[in-house]
Amino acid sequence: MRVAIAGSTGSIGKQTLDVVRAAGEAGKYQVVALSANSSVDEVVAQAQSFKPKVVVIADPAARKKVAERLKLSDPKIEVVDDATQLATLADVVVNGVVGFAGLSVTMSTLKGGKRLALANKESLIAAGPVVAPLRKIAGAEIIPIDSEHCAIHQCLRSSQNYARDISRILLTASGGPFRGRSAKSLANVSVQDALQHPTWSMGPKITVDSSTLMNKGLEVIEAHELFGVSYDAISVVVHQQSIVHSMVEFRDGATIAQLSMPDMKLPIAYALEFPNRSADSFGAIDWAELSRLDFEKPDRDTFRCLDLAYQAGRIGGTAPAWLSAANEIAVESFLAEGVKWNQIASIIESTMQHHDGQIPTTVDDILEADRLARTWAAKMVAKIV
Ligand code: MG
Repeated sequence: MRVAIAGSTGSIGKQTLDVVRAAGEAGKYQVVALSANSSVDEVVAQAQSFKPKVVVIADPAARKKVAERLKLSDPKIEVVDDATQLATLADVVVNGVVGFAGLSVTMSTLKGGKRLALANKESLIAAGPVVAPLRKIAGAEIIPIDSEHCAIHQCLRSSQNYARDISRILLTASGGPFRGRSAKSLANVSVQDALQHPTWSMGPKITVDSSTLMNKGLEVIEAHELFGVSYDAISVVVHQQSIVHSMVEFRDGATIAQLSMPDMKLPIAYALEFPNRSADSFGAIDWAELSRLDFEKPDRDTFRCLDLAYQAGRIGGTAPAWLSAANEIAVESFLAEGVKWNQIASIIESTMQHHDGQIPTTVDDILEADRLARTWAAKMVAKIV
């Protein structure tokens, strides 16, 4: 199988390369294309090790450096700026780009009629109405690499007609590093505190999103877009152990859950192997050690981002694009020690008050919504810092 990886130097990209490396069968996966933003040393090392046909680098200065280095070691590898090459060369494109920047890979992969192994939830959330029709193209399909949505994808396979049989989706949330804390006690938490995720090892943006529950809010919208289930039929339950990765309750009262150790390599391998399963094990549950699984309601007053996401999802149109863009701006500022952690929700909320109710029909509409939301969010940030 020919695999292309967008965002190869990020957390998902590196773990995808681990999955490829771990695959026992020689030549089972062939990495045909890598794309990265600007991590020159790392992408050069990856290219030297995996020998793709092309390396796509968006930043011109970084592209020049990568081209110079690979010319000496691997002259056959082309270094280009055109991300549509990923879908052209591969059977499956892993989209591990961080944030809204992942949109072009999502679009070009589906347009190319290829499987999109999607870790970049922001592209689907922001551009849901524009991405949806592309999924009807022959060969185009989305297999989610979000642990929760991978779990739901597996659970839904227990019915031949899940649209008819489903009662609700139960998205599990670890609760992040601040689970159980009061709003008051979170007033002065540091970036370091927010980056201490109890169960998952992920990139900084998504780890902060986990600490605010915005990650779960975005995942609610993602589940709605992926599976066509109404917002009233998507619930969030906090499950601190991150063993149950989500559940689906059917009309007959049966709840189907997917359980495994928290390791993103399992959803990555699932997305590559579907409809089969990977021969490699990504950890087994030790039931004697585990002994219990806990569930509780999310604290929606302290973690306001969850309901902000439900609101944006229900409004639809460009509202999810606005929400996601405002969140990116707020989180960027928090990571740069600008706004405080508890101001992230406020910035998003005040940005959403300027949402213009547009219904997007083209990518340009989405880009414009994203631009507008970022402008408003930056104004809100500037008022604070
Ligand atoms: Mg997730």
